Amino acid sequence: MDKVLRIDVGAEGGPKAAEKPLGEYAGLGGRALTSAIVSKEVPPLCHPLGEDNKLIIAPGLLSGTTAAMSGRLSVGCKSPLTGTIKEANSGGQAAQVLARLGYAAIVLEGKPKDDTLYKVFINKDGVTITPDNNLKMLGNYDLVDKMKAEFGDKITCISIGPAGEMKMSNSTVAITDMELRPTRHAARGGVGAVMGAKGIKVIVLDDTGMGMRSPKDPEKFKKANNAWVEGLKKHPVTGEGLPAYGTNILANIINEAGAYPTKNFMWGRFEDCSKISGETQAETETARGGKATHGCHRGCIIQCSGIYVDKDGHYLTKQPEYETVWAHGANCGINDLDSIAMLDRLDDDYGLDTIEMGSTIGVAMDAGVAEFGDAEAAINLVKEVGKGTPLGRILGSGTAVTGKVFGVERVPVVKGQALPAYDPRGIQGIGVTYATSTMGADHTSGYAIATNILKVGGYVDPLKPEGQIELSRNLQIATAAVDSTGMCLFIAFAVLDQPDTFQALIDMLNAFYDLSLTADDVTELGKSILKKERDFNTRAGFTAEHDRLPEFFKKEPLPSHNLTFQVKDEDLDTLYNW
Ligand code: SF4
Repeated sequence: MDKVLRIDVGAEGGPKAAEKPLGEYAGLGGRALTSAIVSKEVPPLCHPLGEDNKLIIAPGLLSGTTAAMSGRLSVGCKSPLTGTIKEANSGGQAAQVLARLGYAAIVLEGKPKDDTLYKVFINKDGVTITPDNNLKMLGNYDLVDKMKAEFGDKITCISIGPAGEMKMSNSTVAITDMELRPTRHAARGGVGAVMGAKGIKVIVLDDTGMGMRSPKDPEKFKKANNAWVEGLKKHPVTGEGLPAYGTNILANIINEAGAYPTKNFMWGRFEDCSKISGETQAETETARGGKATHGCHRGCIIQCSGIYVDKDGHYLTKQPEYETVWAHGANCGINDLDSIAMLDRLDDDYGLDTIEMGSTIGVAMDAGVAEFGDAEAAINLVKEVGKGTPLGRILGSGTAVTGKVFGVERVPVVKGQALPAYDPRGIQGIGVTYATSTMGADHTSGYAIATNILKVGGYVDPLKPEGQIELSRNLQIATAAVDSTGMCLFIAFAVLDQPDTFQALIDMLNAFYDLSLTADDVTELGKSILKKERDFNTRAGFTAEHDRLPEFFKKEPLPSHNLTFQVKDEDLDTLYNW
């Protein structure tokens, strides 16, 4: 993993690929690498869909090795949705395969000469780029079937659906899973639109003939990996809860905590939560012959995912995540898992972020475009997006645009990006993360739910402002570092609670690269990433005033707690003081 593949999409005669050494980026991976390249090479004031923006696709430092959980991929650029720097993180097979092919990153740069659509094929023999306008406006599922027919079934695809081609601000980059289905997405911030603007429909990877990446000290690495696996298996969240019920195990927990945003953040509890909970979902999947436990890439041992089949036992989609079930469910007043699964399938096929899409429909419902609870109407609205009708184009531009077009006051976004599935009035720590993250509202940037609700890594009262800044700061620093290793963020539960599991992760990095990193070095890495990202945003025109939640969170008390967001603006402004 010592080279970068740069594809100049504006070259004479069509896109040209060139392998370049890592150079000044050596030693970086995942988010550390994508953010370093964006920060150094992308002018912060450029148009996100223009010539000067770049799309960077990078596996993590441990991807392509035998390290358990190391298959996460970072996709970075200047975001068309937020205007900030962006790192969207995805599971699926691509990180492992790309790393084994020896690439630390693929960089798409320049501006296409015309509207020809291209496919890129990469294997051990090199890179082939071919025009293929037959792929235009294909959904991700049909696209992957075509690639399978052309290149065989040993491939992994990184692709965009129609939403990315239409350069919608809510569009994803899809990654295929172990079954070669386009179910994993670098979803947030409109990264698919940047790939669409570069005229690349799909990157097909085939690592046949390439082995696992070898550690500098194989014995130490093996020992550390064993301790790592043992640590993940013994923690109740990573060893039991997530494998059994998936991320949607949180539905009942967050609903009980009175922080489950319902009907566009009007309420903190959904009366039909039990109908869409993780427990009901897992039962339904198992009873119909689907799967309640499943990994999104080889080497995942937590296996929080699953396979959702319809009433006749036919594959419909992967197990919708907690955030997806919330966004298309409680947030829209929809209580039917089959409809939510269909919405998830459509989102994956068109290439749409489920959080942004569900939030957008919630705002549209608030405006009276459809009734809360009307699942059929929600499905039709997503189909409008896939077709690119004028209404669909508005909805596909995200929650903020939709709120403006329909004159809605309660628009749950920060820096233009929709808030995920936790009400910041009921869980104040996550409100700090939403407000101050370099990415716009993003729960994964600093998952305060762990400590505020699940009591992992200590406990900070979710309803009080005290301690939330420090909690979010520490989590944001740690997350930036984890996002650079290629590790799935869910490892954090075990790492926060079990010092020996954290040490096993550091030992793996040290054994692989022959380093002698300490926990302090990991913290410094996290800080340096955030500093670069924050600096990019400042140069892009973002100020302290952008680090705020929407006004209604300060004015409208959340009924379940009769509470507004309590953390003061001047305290939010201290988050980056370390
Ligand atoms: S725990 Fe879940 S999200 Fe993480 S790698 Fe495994 S299946 Fe993917």
